[in-house]
Amino acid sequence: MELHDSISVIKGIGPKMKTRLAGLGIATVGDLLQYFPREYREFAAVTAMRELRDGQDVIVSGEVVRVTERRPRARLTILAVEVADDTAHIELVYFNQAWRRSQFVPGQRLLIRGRTKVAYGRIQIVNAEVCAAGVTPTEGAITPVYPLTEGVRANALEGWIQIALDAVKEIPETLPAAVRTARGYGSRREAIAVMHRPPDAQTQARAREALAFEELFYLQLGLLRWRWAERQGVTGIKCVPNGAWVRAVYEQFPFTLTQDQLRAAAEIADDMEEAVPMRRLLQGDVGSGKTAVAALALAKIAENGYQAALMVPTEILAVQHVETLRAWLSPTPIRVTLLTGRLSAAERRAALAAIAAGETNIVVGTHALIEEEVEFAALGLVITDEQHRFGVKQRMQLERKGAHVHTLVMTATPIPRTMALSVYGDLDSSVIRELPPGRQPIRTYVARRAQEERIFRFFEREMAQGHQVYVVCPLIAESARSDLNAAMDMYERLTRRFPSYGVGLVYGSMPGADKEAAMRRFADGEDRLLVATSVVEVGVNVPQATVMYIDAAERFGLSQLHQLRGRVGRGEWQSYCILMYNGNSEQAALRLQWMTETQDGFVLAERDLLLRGAGELFGYRQHGWPDLRVADPVRDWRLLVDARQAATAYAANPSPALLAELERRFGHAFWERVYH
Ligand code: ADP
Ligand code: MG
Repeated sequence: MELHDSISVIKGIGPKMKTRLAGLGIATVGDLLQYFPREYREFAAVTAMRELRDGQDVIVSGEVVRVTERRPRARLTILAVEVADDTAHIELVYFNQAWRRSQFVPGQRLLIRGRTKVAYGRIQIVNAEVCAAGVTPTEGAITPVYPLTEGVRANALEGWIQIALDAVKEIPETLPAAVRTARGYGSRREAIAVMHRPPDAQTQARAREALAFEELFYLQLGLLRWRWAERQGVTGIKCVPNGAWVRAVYEQFPFTLTQDQLRAAAEIADDMEEAVPMRRLLQGDVGSGKTAVAALALAKIAENGYQAALMVPTEILAVQHVETLRAWLSPTPIRVTLLTGRLSAAERRAALAAIAAGETNIVVGTHALIEEEVEFAALGLVITDEQHRFGVKQRMQLERKGAHVHTLVMTATPIPRTMALSVYGDLDSSVIRELPPGRQPIRTYVARRAQEERIFRFFEREMAQGHQVYVVCPLIAESARSDLNAAMDMYERLTRRFPSYGVGLVYGSMPGADKEAAMRRFADGEDRLLVATSVVEVGVNVPQATVMYIDAAERFGLSQLHQLRGRVGRGEWQSYCILMYNGNSEQAALRLQWMTETQDGFVLAERDLLLRGAGELFGYRQHGWPDLRVADPVRDWRLLVDARQAATAYAANPSPALLAELERRFGHAFWERVYH
């Protein structure tokens, strides 16, 4: 038997079963062998059925006696499975899971785990987890639990896997021998066999590590290789060392750049002076001053006779950047143009003409920049701000408006090292960790509903001193409608509560022009209080705002809370963040507690990641990455770092075998999907 054989070579797998297995992603013998258990159960102690009492978490072992299905009323099916050991009978009960019926066959031996319940005088286990007891469990042994589907029984699957393991002639090694030896991993066959039938937890963990490492190694090798190939024979725009314009901008800043800003600017300048195009990620917490660093890069590309595009996620931010940049670049002849979807037809025509004719150096805009009609005379640098709001694809589309442009990706969502490596593995990275001097930490408090009136009085005091207040209402995922209602209610209450101050309202589905007008009134200080759904999250700069009040804060992720908090503390005054906690879950309370303990976005992002998992935070899946079977880029981050290091050595000069394995794993389609 060979790995690439269809699973129908295994006796007992007919056409019907083949279709069912295909639903689990199993088409070949190789797929079957790599269909790893979802988790393992440790059967330390099996309880005799006679000993069972009400409300115990137990493991029992027994034989299926009878399977019955009842439909006491429409839309309710009850599957009852009677099982017995030598001492007693019990019943397993499943509600509305008729598909499970085929998983139980009279006579079959099972290991059963769940919580007991006494009903009608007998012991039941509702929604028990079961797996086939191929062997009698021994103390300390762990038993695999496979994800299953209708019509595929655990013990059949386990049987086929064992058949395949015995019959497959060759399971080739895929990691380079030197890497395998250095890490002390055994053969691949051994690792796979252990995953399916582990002698003990420790051996299983070791086998898992070897397989996870292999996945991460190829993921990193693919990224590095892709970048290498992309750079081959490519001549980018080799800028000259910093000249008069860059210096003029540098001297023009109304502040001294921090060490981190200087270092990031130098790394960027170095990249831009290379013939290979820059691909750099600039990470800096909210308020760390990324815009100033970007301004220096913009001046540099202009000085070299090329244009730049700066793409941002919102109109408001685009307008704000244009204003800032015009001020900072004013000592030079550099021209800055705004391009968003909301220009008038005439303004748009003029902007497009100036861009195409090379009459403007820097174009700041929203998604509108990507449109077909936008043609640059000589695009040399693409900067995306708040990168996490865009897909890789949009960035690439913009980059293709020039030839081998330099790329700078800026993000305020601090990306833990782990994610930087896996999601942005094709980018170099600069980090601004240090905030500009004089920033006072934002005092952060967790509050309860009973304190609301006190908090409102505090708003009053702050506003009386000319300061401003953000009130953010939670995003209610189930319904945009109730989301809006919460904000509306709050708006009405605050309008009544503070009759002498202007109160504004912004929400997601508001027409763009109205939203912008409201933001503008707040930025100008006309409105002192702004009620918002989480739309204020992105980049607005209102230095007079000193209070960030977040209602039902437990509904937000840590990184999001941190971003919101970053909206205040932008001026010279002490600022405050008040997290109104309405919940009663311990985990949520803990998260809010963390907010009061640290202002470090990187620390919060790491914690968020551990709590919520990678996918949610950065749209890991959305980025089009492959599903990893074994590795978890967050939990396995140490392994990821090692894998990247190991892969680096092979990226420039991989053996034909490595290349073939890369192609087999990702293929052309993979890179096409991710990057084009
Ligand atoms: P972000 O990194 O979040 O984009 P910004 O670039 O908007 O941050 O900068 C936040 C604020 O800090 C701006 O008002 C900016 O002018 C100011 N700033 C930037 N660098 C410094 C510095 N080195 N010293 C003092 N203020 C600075
Ligand atoms: Mg910014």
